[in-house]
Amino acid sequence: MADYPPSFTDLLAALRQLPSVGARSAERLALFLVDAKPEVGARLASALVAVARNIVPCRDCGFYAEREEGESEVLCPICRDAGRDGSLWCLVERADDVVKFEKAAGGGFRGLYHVLGGKLSPLEGIGPEELRVAPLLARLGTRPPKEVILALGTDVEGETTALYLAPLLKERGVAVSRLATGLPAGGGLEFADSVTLGYALAGRREI
Ligand SMILES: [Zn+2]
Repeated sequence: MADYPPSFTDLLAALRQLPSVGARSAERLALFLVDAKPEVGARLASALVAVARNIVPCRDCGFYAEREEGESEVLCPICRDAGRDGSLWCLVERADDVVKFEKAAGGGFRGLYHVLGGKLSPLEGIGPEELRVAPLLARLGTRPPKEVILALGTDVEGETTALYLAPLLKERGVAVSRLATGLPAGGGLEFADSVTLGYALAGRREI
């Protein structure tokens, strides 16, 4: 029984490594690439090579940074920006959270970030050593902020992580805050669950 040629099946196997790409989607993408103009595949290939070669975690905050030829330690554009408020850090779980805060309403966040790289999860074997906790403490030792906002989720792992980090930060003289949790902007109360309503009540503010 004939199958696709070897280069084609290699491409299929490579595509199958990607998240949410199953056998059928991989085949569809491969067929598209094989039939497309050569420039389409070449552009994709060179973008993949560039990302693998140039994108590294920022030395300070862990966000994505672009390495220039010959550089070993790289800072992201945020850490390089002298106009940023270094007294306020926002601690996030994932690098893509940084982009969300940068795009937040009101001009985005103007302080610095620290990307933790995940959340504590004893059940999944994720302890402080698996996260960027040591780099956080090292960074606090050199240029400590006044306040760190723990911008973690309100799930069990997020709570566990916040409870673990808060004392470590406080004993170094850093104020610790958490994001307010509550109702989505522009929505009515009818879609709010009881937990969210509870948080919204507890986090109410005077107007
Ligand atoms: Zn950075």
